[in-house]
Amino acid sequence: MKRLAVLGSTGSIGTQTLEVVGCFPDRFQVVALAAGRNVELLIQQAKQFRPRYVSVSHAEDLERVRDALSDPSIECGLDAGAVATSGADLVIASQVGSVGLEPVLAALRRGIDVALANKEVLVMAGELVLREARRSGARLLPLDSEHVAIAQCLGREAPGALRRIVLTASGGPFRGRSRESLAAVTRADALAHPNWSMGPKITIDSATLMNKGFEWIEARWLFDVPAERIQVVIHPESIVHSLVELVDGSWLAQLGIPDMRIPIAYTLGLPERLPMPDLPRLDLVELGALRFEAPDPACFPALGLAKTALELGGGAPAALNAGNEVAVEAFLAGRIPFTAIAEVADETLGSHEVVSEPDLAAVWHADRQARAAARHWIERRYA
Ligand code: MG
Repeated sequence: MKRLAVLGSTGSIGTQTLEVVGCFPDRFQVVALAAGRNVELLIQQAKQFRPRYVSVSHAEDLERVRDALSDPSIECGLDAGAVATSGADLVIASQVGSVGLEPVLAALRRGIDVALANKEVLVMAGELVLREARRSGARLLPLDSEHVAIAQCLGREAPGALRRIVLTASGGPFRGRSRESLAAVTRADALAHPNWSMGPKITIDSATLMNKGFEWIEARWLFDVPAERIQVVIHPESIVHSLVELVDGSWLAQLGIPDMRIPIAYTLGLPERLPMPDLPRLDLVELGALRFEAPDPACFPALGLAKTALELGGGAPAALNAGNEVAVEAFLAGRIPFTAIAEVADETLGSHEVVSEPDLAAVWHADRQARAAARHWIERRYA
């Protein structure tokens, strides 16, 4: 029986994780759930999975959860990091944004394995996070479809066998559009992803390709591969989830329908393959063709910003992440146009003063400074 703690249990990855867990009640036990403000769903999940610990993000929701559960064996609190003391064997890190950094570090420090869907954690503090994992011996497992694909392709290959990683990107809803036409896109246009069903933040990040930029940084840390050996290609069908090129000229790819339950089941089941019931089957003949294209840097500058941030190093990726979080929030609130998201991120990165080898305090300092710079820039331009 594997004991799981799910951070961000009411979000897209959290709910799909619990869906997979629900298919295998004899294999998994949920010991902790942490959510933000979707209290009704959290209560429903807690009633179904009977964890030992339930956490919410706001104090005013705590009584509501306690009353609804009316079960003294379930402890309710405000500390998502407490999942680290909940007795879990594996923490599913599926929060969105910088809020996931501290709980992930808390779990790794205690030697608990983490499955990471919350890519912003590695963008902000890749080096620090890996250092904690190495120190405690905890495993950091990918829970992002591309990285789960790469992990499967690499399998037991020796580190010297890899020539290149190729990350695929759907291209989002605006693939093939002109830069000018992107200025007028609406929130609804940007939230209509052609292939994947995801939460709002990552869907907007997919539309700007910032998501792919972050995944590029994520791959650099997860697989310890120099950034220049990671390439991004647009693959509109989202069937090939990523590829590796090996030194003998062989290529390996992982394919499947775009459904997050498949990579989730893979990572939860390790080292076994779980027989997933009732998923639509991939029909190659019906599909007919798979296309690959180069990303358009003029339309999607976010990819280049991620590369710049990683090259600058230190706190620069944390600053980029913070600027992007502020910009996406402003776009979703209708305060800035779509094309301004990358502009805000660019300005934020430009105003960041690079500190090399930042500790955790320096990472949070970079995060705060970048948020202030991004807000200031938005105020000046769009107030
Ligand atoms: Mg992904």
